[in-house]
Order: sequence, then structure tokens, then C-alpha cells
Amino acid sequence: MNRKSGKHWKQWADLNAPNSKGLMALDPHFRIQVKDFVEALVAAGAVVSVQATRRSARRAYLFHWSWLIALGKCSPSAATSMEGVDISWDHGNKMQSIAGAEEMVRAFGLAIPPRSNVAPALRSNHILGKAVDLDINWVGKIHVQKKDGTKIELTYQDNPNTNKKLIEVGKSYGLIKHLNDAPHWSVNGR
Ligand SMILES: [Zn+2]
Repeated sequence: MNRKSGKHWKQWADLNAPNSKGLMALDPHFRIQVKDFVEALVAAGAVVSVQATRRSARRAYLFHWSWLIALGKCSPSAATSMEGVDISWDHGNKMQSIAGAEEMVRAFGLAIPPRSNVAPALRSNHILGKAVDLDINWVGKIHVQKKDGTKIELTYQDNPNTNKKLIEVGKSYGLIKHLNDAPHWSVNGR
């Protein structure tokens, strides 16, 4: 295939570096904690859907460098290499290198300024299988069992980041809430 950066890398990534929504893709220890938390919520009447589990390190690599190069934040030749991803970021011509990276940013739908001012991370708990994005919904109040068996009343709030009781229940199962990322729970809150 064409090694040069460009929109064809989206197809490559969909085949060779897909993200996962399945619980089976998670770290085994964290997976059990997620399963227990979700089961407790569902038993209490919540509707839970898993939006994301493990992310591909190769996909994250393509996101990271295409974003930086497209936005002129690093020179195409500064990109590190990654095993299993035979891409040429540097086309030997700066404008063409930037154009190739821009095609990838668009193809992957990456958030750029003003929506996002930071490059997609090379490392994350999603890549390690130690984070999960959950969409958790219920109406009114539910009574959810914590890990220690006690029940706690939860009142629905649109923003899970500020729902202290929900965060407390998650923590009892070992899921720590990220405080600025609505669906995101992980082993350490990051
Ligand atoms: Zn997440």
C-alpha cells in the first residue's frame, strides 16, 4: 500500500487497528469490576450501554501524529515510529506532508481547535484496557447496591460528573470517575 500519510490510513486503521466496545477486550481484573458495577445498576433499573472499552495503540498513534503535523505543531520528520504501522509522515515536501496529515485528521474526525486544543493522547487507560465509557440512564430515583452490599439512593442527573452518589457507587466497585469526561470511568480516574 501507499506508505505516505493520507486518508487511506483510515481504511487501514479500521481493518488493522480497530477500537473495541466489548467488555472482553478489557484488562481481566478491571473487566470484572465493570461487570459488577453495570450489573448492580441494571438490577436497580438503570439502562447502561457500553460506548467504548479498549482503544488500539496503533490507532492512537495515527491520531496523535496526524493531529500535531496537520496543525503545524511538529515537523513531519519529528514523528516517532511505531512497530506495525509502516507510515511515512514526511513526504519530503512540507506542504504535501501537512496535506497528508490533514486528510487523516478529517478522515478520523478528530477534534481540532477550538473544540480541542490538545493532541489525541498516545497513552491512555483505554489503550491499557483499564477504562470504560458508559452511558448510564434512569428515571427519577433508584436504589443501587454497593460492593459491600449496602444500598444507596441515586437521583438522576444529566451530568454524571457531578452525581456524587453515582460516583460513590462506582468507586465501591473499583471504577473511578473522570471528573470532566462524562462517560469515562477507569482504574484511577484518568
Ligand atoms: Zn473514555
